[in-house]
Amino acid sequence: MHRIVAVFLLCAVAVPFAYVHAAFPVTSTKEDLLLKYEAAAAGGEKVRILVMPGHEPEYGGAEYRTLKERDIAVEIANKIAAHLEANPRYEVIVARDTLAWHPELEGYFDRNWKGIQRFVKDKKKEMQKMLRKGAVEEREFQVEHNAAATDVALRLYGINKWANEYGIDLAIHVHLNDHMGHGLASPGVHSGFAVYVPDEHYGNASGSTALGEALAKNLNKWNATSTLPIENYGVVPSQSLIAMGSNNTAEFATVLVEYAYIYESKITYPEARGVVTDDFAYQTYKGVEEFFGNPVLGDYTLALPYVWKAEEIEEGTASPQIYALQVALHSLGFYPPAGELLIGCPVSGYAGPCTTRALKVFQASKGLEQTGSIGPRTKAALQASGL
Ligand SMILES: [Zn+2]
Repeated sequence: MHRIVAVFLLCAVAVPFAYVHAAFPVTSTKEDLLLKYEAAAAGGEKVRILVMPGHEPEYGGAEYRTLKERDIAVEIANKIAAHLEANPRYEVIVARDTLAWHPELEGYFDRNWKGIQRFVKDKKKEMQKMLRKGAVEEREFQVEHNAAATDVALRLYGINKWANEYGIDLAIHVHLNDHMGHGLASPGVHSGFAVYVPDEHYGNASGSTALGEALAKNLNKWNATSTLPIENYGVVPSQSLIAMGSNNTAEFATVLVEYAYIYESKITYPEARGVVTDDFAYQTYKGVEEFFGNPVLGDYTLALPYVWKAEEIEEGTASPQIYALQVALHSLGFYPPAGELLIGCPVSGYAGPCTTRALKVFQASKGLEQTGSIGPRTKAALQASGL
């Protein structure tokens, strides 16, 4: 009987998080992280957080027109770090800037290159053994990820090794998504965010998955989950991503956030991107604090309250005010307009027909002329709504 139950549970692992089964010794749990957080409050060791902008200084990552994922990732990572640093319980390290690795990591790569190579070889050997024994079930790699060149892969594994030794408690990898097959100048078909976590067989799966779910919940307040079928659930386990500790190389909680696809309007309009990434970072921070049981109260945005300006809303343009307007109308239940979803009408700072329609419905609800622009009366109505 007991055996039958066990078999049933093993079948259930195909359903995300129905049952978390670590084949390797467990190295990260939510409970341990909460204890660490409590201890830090009492003057103990701080919770060590690594914020890792995806890819390398001056190399790798998605590109679209003149945009580079690796640079925008630094912008988002620095904003996340700034929030986290305000909490004295955290020690925060950002792995790199746009030009260079953090000196600590650079030095580690230089001094330990052979050691990193050995570490990877040993871990891969262990993993192969687990696969042969049937203790780890090989997952089909349904999501395409660019195969990393050897030295790039080794640096990523090296970061895991360094973080294990340094005592990093949790890592947040910051990325923008891309979908294969669209040209450098034409957008792809998918959009939305996804949070990757380690495959359940790995020792760090438990703590990572709990953290990933908290981040996804906060981002999901007005960011739609990815339309790519495997990413649609929002939290996606991965066996093969090095950042998630593939081959069981990371002992700490680690998550990888694909905030948006690089060709989405949230990213491509520099006029509004700053406020979009402000909120990406803020929602991530709120997710971390919620995970640690110290929730940040209030709305999911830094864009409100907004000092509204009377202004025509021109479709095809982007601005911080349009972003604030979309956030405000979203919080009042007008955006996206009836019959539409966030995936088609994103909160992005870019004005399209969704914004005009939503604003007109708001104006009608206040008995105002439906201009689809912010005139003096609409401005007053927005202010009166406390936004
Ligand atoms: Zn990336």
